[in-house]
Amino acid sequence: MTSSQKTVKGGGKVKAKFWGTRGSVASPLVAKQVQDKLLDVMSDYDLMMRTTPSQPLNYTDFLNRLPFWKRGTYGGNTSCVEVDCGGRRIVLDMGTGVRLLGNSLFPEMLKNKGIELTFLLSHVHWDHIQGLPFFGPLYVNKGTGVRNSWSFYGGTDWMRQIEPCLRGQMDPPNFPVSWEEIKKITHEMRSADLVDMLSFNVGDVLVKTRKLNHPQETYGWRIEYDHKVVVYTTDNEPYDPLCPDPKLLELARESDLWITDCQYTKDVYEGKVGGVPRHGWGHSYPEAVAQTAVQANVRKVALFHHDPGSSDEAIYNMEEFVRKLILEKGGKSEVVAAHEGLEIVL
Ligand SMILES: [Zn+2]
Ligand SMILES: [Zn+2]
Repeated sequence: MTSSQKTVKGGGKVKAKFWGTRGSVASPLVAKQVQDKLLDVMSDYDLMMRTTPSQPLNYTDFLNRLPFWKRGTYGGNTSCVEVDCGGRRIVLDMGTGVRLLGNSLFPEMLKNKGIELTFLLSHVHWDHIQGLPFFGPLYVNKGTGVRNSWSFYGGTDWMRQIEPCLRGQMDPPNFPVSWEEIKKITHEMRSADLVDMLSFNVGDVLVKTRKLNHPQETYGWRIEYDHKVVVYTTDNEPYDPLCPDPKLLELARESDLWITDCQYTKDVYEGKVGGVPRHGWGHSYPEAVAQTAVQANVRKVALFHHDPGSSDEAIYNMEEFVRKLILEKGGKSEVVAAHEGLEIVL
């Protein structure tokens, strides 16, 4: 890692794929929620058959006309986003969603006799690292001829540096396989500590860090490749919703895709609903997100780190609300609430 910047070259697409979008703790749907969705959809289908019986839609077309919260789910896995920059893969955080990413990599890993990944961590709270022990490719022994390479980048002011934090969650008796065992069987595994305002290259990809506002510190990431910019600022609390943190603005400025914490509604944040105020918990809400999106002139905003207590309908409503706020402020940013499996091509 160096602090010098190289010219960003390259070619090819930039793709972001969401593998885990929840914050704080994994929160899968329960049976009652699934049943309620089914009943709701069946009721809507009955209504369509009664009102337009001569032009019935087939099931797929019918489902596709429903709002996303009715026909799908934003998912229950915690933070993990894969960013593919012309074939070079960067993984943002390793929440429980990274298990699914790992499963998807096996065919390519076996075909190419190895895979190279760079993991950029916002911080090491459980919801951002807990999937790593369940990332399947970690257990493929280099003795089989598969030469995997893993690089982990994380902060320095976490009381412990990144490697002890990752090792610690696998220490016996917390997990049956130790970090040392993983290191022994892996072709290449390294970790690098970060400071604020760092710029460095991962191949032809330029990455930049800014320290943001969250307990035990968090880092935002700006990823630039082939004139495309993806920014990831999860777990970040606004100081003032109408006056964005200059560091956040600098990071998000003119980005093509800004992936941002939007965990609470403002009423939840202020404790008007939900029992207690969430001040100092390190998370954001629509009013602050909309203000930053407009001031930073971002092209597309992806709402992320959904509260484990938010229903699919609540997240859908939050997406609509952020869109409305941005329009009211004269902004043009597109808005999407990220769901597991969502792919955005820039
Ligand atoms: Zn988190
Ligand atoms: Zn956190």
